[in-house]
Amino acid sequence: MKILISGGGIGGLTAALCFLHHGAEVTVMEQATDLGEVGAGIQIPPNAMKVFAALGLDAALAETAFRPLAIEARMGRSGMELFQIPLADHAIKRWGAPYLNIYRVDYIAVLEAALRAQSPDALHLDAEVVGYSQTEHAVEVQLADGRRISGDVLIGADGIHSPVRTQILGAEKPVFTGNIAWRAIVPMAALGEYAPRPTACVWMGSGKHCVTYRVRRGTLANFVGVVECDDWTTESWTERGTREEALTNFEGWHPTITSLLGEADALYRWALFDRAPLPRWVDGRVAILGDAAHPMLPFMAQGAAMAVEDAWVVAREVTQKTSPARGLEAYQHLRQTRASRVQAGSRANTKTFHKRTRLGQLATYGPMWMAGKFAPMALHKRQDPIYGHDVTRLD
Ligand SMILES: Cc1cc2nc3c(=O)[nH]c(=O)nc-3n(C[C@H](O)[C@H](O)[C@H](O)COP(=O)(O)OP(=O)(O)OC[C@H]3O[C@@H](n4cnc5c(N)ncnc54)[C@H](O)[C@@H]3O)c2cc1C
Repeated sequence: MKILISGGGIGGLTAALCFLHHGAEVTVMEQATDLGEVGAGIQIPPNAMKVFAALGLDAALAETAFRPLAIEARMGRSGMELFQIPLADHAIKRWGAPYLNIYRVDYIAVLEAALRAQSPDALHLDAEVVGYSQTEHAVEVQLADGRRISGDVLIGADGIHSPVRTQILGAEKPVFTGNIAWRAIVPMAALGEYAPRPTACVWMGSGKHCVTYRVRRGTLANFVGVVECDDWTTESWTERGTREEALTNFEGWHPTITSLLGEADALYRWALFDRAPLPRWVDGRVAILGDAAHPMLPFMAQGAAMAVEDAWVVAREVTQKTSPARGLEAYQHLRQTRASRVQAGSRANTKTFHKRTRLGQLATYGPMWMAGKFAPMALHKRQDPIYGHDVTRLD
């Protein structure tokens, strides 16, 4: 069976590896001329790590990543701890796999190396997909340079502006959420006593929040700062902002945050978009996955993890069902509810993380602090449906 994949991001590369694992042939078409991602960190939660364990890539990812000791929530200004959820060995015991923080460049490099090792000619760079056509027996992809490539199935893993999604469902724009994300990577050595602790920490405050963690074996600190802002909507990983603007956004915040902003060589800004759940992800021999199917706010750190789960399920279903179309329908059926729930949960976290009034903060963060002190297991339990999920074991 020959699988065509549009997009060589985390979702597309993982899908290629999952299809190879299930015995199919793959061709990945990526519009960029190389896969070098811009500098930013990403969290790989246990539910995604179980897919990488099944693919034999867990050790390679762990080798280049950082394993945080805990997830923490703190107040942005004072730094007061609200709660901690231990991760180090606890994540493996409770959820069946480790929790990693990784530099995106390193993540993509592990996936790309695995793909090239298993199928040296699978990856086509500088290959922009513009559309597809299909018959009862095959699907054909059209590239911007005029080439046509045919196969049995097409997977659109081509991100939030997916051309494959547009062809399935028609043109429709994702919606600006009123939030922008600042991001920066800073060498740990530059941060001295204010370096982020060895945790994945959410810092909450009025109309904004930040996330800090370490990547690349603990040598780099990653910063993401989300600010409510209605007048700026460029969605690009490479749009820069100024240090003054970033420091104004986080004025009065804990020195861990202001030091990160002060020491960053480059501060990038990204407007956050999402989209209501789509009615369908499949058109005959064609399906979408990852951000193409369910872009979400990054407030549960699950967007790429959902793409990784999708990748395993679509590969298993397509290779095991009696026809590609049946396999893709089964994939949509198995994945839509879970992805939509995580999309909704991520959106709901904006309200939790950004409480504006003193009363709202007290009513939300007070019980969190109490739960962290007196009923920590209740907090761990809340993560079970997300981190405990194992697509490699489900029928
Ligand atoms: C600030 C921030 C922090 C985040 N943190 C986390 C986190 O901690 N954990 C987590 O799991 N998720 C996180 N996410 C979400 C995560 O980044 C995305 O969900 C994930 O990257 C989606 O992967 P994807 O492969 O579906 O799409 P993308 O990463 O967008 O990849 C799509 C690929 O397709 C290519 N492409 C596009 N159009 C074409 C075309 N026409 N032809 C060929 N190729 C094409 C693109 O060049 C790209 O390489 C975060 C997101 C943001 C914004």
